[in-house]
Amino acid sequence: MHASSGGDGGESSDEAASDSDSSDSDVSASGDKTMTVHFIDVGQGDSAFIELPNGECMLIDAGERDYAGRVISFIDCLGYTKIDHVVATHPHSDHIGGMQRVIESFDIGTIYMPEAITDTSSFINLLEAIDAKGKTITPVDDTLVVNFGGAKGRFVAPSVISENLNDCSAILHLSYGERAFLFTGDAEAIEESTVSADIEADVLKVGHHGSYTSSSDAFLSKVKAQIAVISCGKDNEYGHPHDVALKRLENSGVKRIYRTDISGTVTVITDGRTLGVSEGTQVTDYVWVLNIGSKKVHTASCDSAVEMNEYNKAYSIRDLDELLALGYKLCGSCKPNEE
Ligand SMILES: [Zn+2]
Ligand SMILES: [Zn+2]
Ligand SMILES: [Zn+2]
Repeated sequence: MHASSGGDGGESSDEAASDSDSSDSDVSASGDKTMTVHFIDVGQGDSAFIELPNGECMLIDAGERDYAGRVISFIDCLGYTKIDHVVATHPHSDHIGGMQRVIESFDIGTIYMPEAITDTSSFINLLEAIDAKGKTITPVDDTLVVNFGGAKGRFVAPSVISENLNDCSAILHLSYGERAFLFTGDAEAIEESTVSADIEADVLKVGHHGSYTSSSDAFLSKVKAQIAVISCGKDNEYGHPHDVALKRLENSGVKRIYRTDISGTVTVITDGRTLGVSEGTQVTDYVWVLNIGSKKVHTASCDSAVEMNEYNKAYSIRDLDELLALGYKLCGSCKPNEE
C-alpha cells in the first residue's frame, strides 16, 4: 500500500447516492474494477491523477513547475511506471508548468492538448519535452471520444480556439458505469456556454479554481453535480474560490464541496455504482530520492538527498533499470543499488 489518508481531514466519507464500502486503504486499488480520481494538492494550480478500471492511468494537468516533484512522487509511489494518457487542458503554467518534468520522468502513452498556443517558457519547455520523447500531440476538440482504460471519455470542448486561453480548455466528461466526472480546466462562462453535449456528472472539478468567471448557473444546471472539487492554493492572491461561485455551486444542488487548500489531495473512488471520498491522501513509502532537475538517483540517507531543494525532489519506488532507461544517473557518492 503506497497511498494513505492522513492528517486532520483523513476520514473517509460515503456519499448520499451510495452505500459505499470504500475506505482509506482502497485508494491504490489499481487493476481492480474501480476508477480512482486523485485531485492532487498542487497549491494554486490543477492536477488530477486517475487510476483507470483496467489498470492504466491518466494525468490531467501537472500544476506549476515547482510542484512537478509532488506529482511525480504521487504517481511513482502508487506503483506506476507509465502514464498511458496525458491531458494538458490549456497552456497556462499552473496547469502545464510541471508537465515537462513529468514527461521526462515516465514512459508516456498518448498526449492530448487543445490547439491553443502561447510563447511562454512553460509551454515551450513542454513542447520540447514531448519532442525529445519522440511523441506527438493528439489535438482535442469537442468531437473527440476516447476509451480511457475502460472508462468512457468524451471531450465536450473546446469547439473554438479563443484569445482567452482559459476558454480553450479541454473539458472532459469521463464516465465509468453509472458514475461520471467532469474535468473543466479553467473554462470560463463563455466556453461553458458553447457546450451542447450531455455533461451530467456526479463529480465536478470546478472551473478555474473556483473563480467567479466560471461556474455559471446555466452550466451548473446541466452538470447537476453532487460533489464539487476546487483545486486552489492556501491564501492565494486571486481570492479563489470566490464566494459568488461557491454560492452558485450550492444553489445548483451540490451537496459537498471539497477544496485542496483545506483538505490536501482529495480522492474519489467509484466501482461504477457507488462513490467514496477521502481527503488528505499522501504517498508514504519510497525507496529512492530523485533529483528531477539533475536527473540523479539517491538513497534516502544521501547528503545530497537530505539537502536537496524541495522543488527538485521526488520520491520513487521504481526499479533502477526503469529510472536508468529514462536517462536518470545513479549518484556516485551514495551508489544506489537494489541488493
Ligand atoms: Zn488555472
Ligand atoms: Zn488558465
Ligand atoms: Zn546520493
